[in-house]
Amino acid sequence: MKPSLVVGKIMQLISASLPNRCLMCHQSIALPARGLCHVCLDSGLYHQPICQGCGCAMQVQCIFCGRCLLKQPIAVIAPCSYHQGLGEWIGLIKYQAQFAALPVLSQALVNRVCELESLGLLRLPQVLVPVPLHINRQRKRGFNQAWLIADSIYQQLNIPIAVQGLERVLDTESQAGLTGQQRRMNLSGAFRLADSFPYQRIALIDDVVTTGTTVNEIATMFKKLNIHVQVWCLARAEAPGLLD
Ligand SMILES: [Zn+2]
Ligand SMILES: [Zn+2]
Repeated sequence: MKPSLVVGKIMQLISASLPNRCLMCHQSIALPARGLCHVCLDSGLYHQPICQGCGCAMQVQCIFCGRCLLKQPIAVIAPCSYHQGLGEWIGLIKYQAQFAALPVLSQALVNRVCELESLGLLRLPQVLVPVPLHINRQRKRGFNQAWLIADSIYQQLNIPIAVQGLERVLDTESQAGLTGQQRRMNLSGAFRLADSFPYQRIALIDDVVTTGTTVNEIATMFKKLNIHVQVWCLARAEAPGLLD
């Protein structure tokens, strides 16, 4: 047996021997569900129409609210708000390598995508593009959370992941605590996109979208190649900053 398979088998045995409890309410969860129980997950998900631009609640599901319709910001698809219960568990994925909630949240994202597609409010992309980490950051963290999410979406929707084309060439400071303008300056030139990219419609994949600075920086490069960009993430903020 290959070493990687042995490690995988050991991890399976360890996780099978641990109690399978909800991260939020600590109630037991019946396998194969993991991470979050149905009740806690459901309490954090959107249950009303949400504007794909600013994330505000709307009366009728359409792509943009009236304000965003004028500005046509990048569409951001998420199953929940970053500020209503589930954001904390998404932070655990990135900062503590606590992956328990990742499958169930990825599934919630896919459900949201499929719902919007069935309503004619979203066109599926040809390829998924995970937001890249700088190689130094990735080595330190050991993984790129955007890749893990993209892989989970690929398993469910069979949309391939672009493995080449976009890279992060600057190891920038953390964006936390910066103003909008400082964020844009901090990220300026941080990414590089190949001169040609063989797709017309992509979905950028990230764990969360708060101010939208990162995804807008990347989307600008794709738009110069006339490539349509939408963003799929596990949670989003209600961000007026997306509009500026
Ligand atoms: Zn629970
Ligand atoms: Zn809006």
